[in-house]
Amino acid sequence: NSRALLAKQRDVDSSAVAYPEDVPVAFEEGMGATVRDVDGNTYVDLFAGIGVLNVGHANPYVLEAVHEQADELVHTVDFPTEARLELIGKLDEIAPAGLRGENRVVFGGPTGSDAIEASIKLAKYNTGGDGLVAFRGAYHGATSGAMSLTSNRGFKERYTPLLGDVVHAPYPYPLRQGKSPEEAVDRALEEVQAIVEDPYGGLANPAGIFVEPIQGEGGVVTPPEGFLRGLRDVADDNDVPLVFDEIQSGLGRTGEWWACDWAGVTPDVMTSAKALGGVGFPLSATIYHEDLDTWGSGDHAGTYRGHVVGMRAGTRAIEYVQDHDLLAHARDLGSYIRDRLREAGEGTDRLAEVRGRGLFVGAEFVDGDGDPDGDAVDEIQQYCFEHGVLVWTAGRHGSVLRLLPPLVLTEDLAETAMDVVADAIEHATA
Ligand code: PMP
Repeated sequence: NSRALLAKQRDVDSSAVAYPEDVPVAFEEGMGATVRDVDGNTYVDLFAGIGVLNVGHANPYVLEAVHEQADELVHTVDFPTEARLELIGKLDEIAPAGLRGENRVVFGGPTGSDAIEASIKLAKYNTGGDGLVAFRGAYHGATSGAMSLTSNRGFKERYTPLLGDVVHAPYPYPLRQGKSPEEAVDRALEEVQAIVEDPYGGLANPAGIFVEPIQGEGGVVTPPEGFLRGLRDVADDNDVPLVFDEIQSGLGRTGEWWACDWAGVTPDVMTSAKALGGVGFPLSATIYHEDLDTWGSGDHAGTYRGHVVGMRAGTRAIEYVQDHDLLAHARDLGSYIRDRLREAGEGTDRLAEVRGRGLFVGAEFVDGDGDPDGDAVDEIQQYCFEHGVLVWTAGRHGSVLRLLPPLVLTEDLAETAMDVVADAIEHATA
């Protein structure tokens, strides 16, 4: 059934659609941390729609509110609704300390890329600058502004010219840079400082520093201590807004509400999407310090700035994480998963590093020469799919096994899934 459905879809879909070709799977029902395909096979989902379904597929507490709201009102643009007020209030409750009680939220549209576009505009509007600092390995989205910040040339070389004044600094990645964590951080910060301070070697009019507190698509690259704090200092010293892209890392994924909470560093602007729509409704937000609230009415526009059902779902999902103490669960289960990965790598020198925080997990594989090994990760992914576990990949060379399970994944299911992942690693690295 999966094969037939995929064949039909391939006939009519864009050639741009992306799913693992080697294992034909089409899904029909999701529940918690599991999904069932159209042939009745059940999978443990360690992927969650690229880190969207933090409270699980079809979370009943969220869906109850979705059904009620959908019966009443679905769309209003900016007209006031209780749903909007509720979500703004919830986001304030969980905001990083320096934004709590002092923030504004703009719902920019359905996707993460929309939130990035809004944050670029906000930074430029407030500073009058046009130069943007981003990082190598960054992924910020598929629209033109977001693509400009994204570093991988493969994503954007056919679409130039994009935004002109964007400079990519090195992101601390000790394994690939062959540096100690301290050296990697120092090198990155020195370069950011030079880009921001030196108009000849860097940017004439810096408008913002855009960074993922943990790089997702780049390979779950988890910066050593001191990086975000150092960026905060450079931003403060030069009066440049610091923008954290928390689209993949936020809303509890790392076992704190935001990945930046691990470092105790507050940005001036923060983007959120993915899990924000609760059970998969498209919704994004840009949350920023009230000092930057200088836009006039209508200065940033968009039709879908008020998806009422998505907002209800988003509020309920945050409540669910709070009521079930899922941040602590994500931290504990993340440690367990990382331990299992390290254990699985003990018999081989092909598992170079296990990274991430909470349930934002990456494991990087290398070949016999120590170079990134995307083939091994493809093999692991295929083995996992064939044995009932959904996993994803990341990194410029696809050499990082990426696990983003729903935060509701139980210990029992995690153990079952990790048994399969461990077998897959053994199989692919033997
Ligand atoms: N920023 C980050 C960190 C992301 O991971 C993504 C999506 N993977 C985006 C931005 C873009 O979000 P979207 O695909 O919803 O536009």
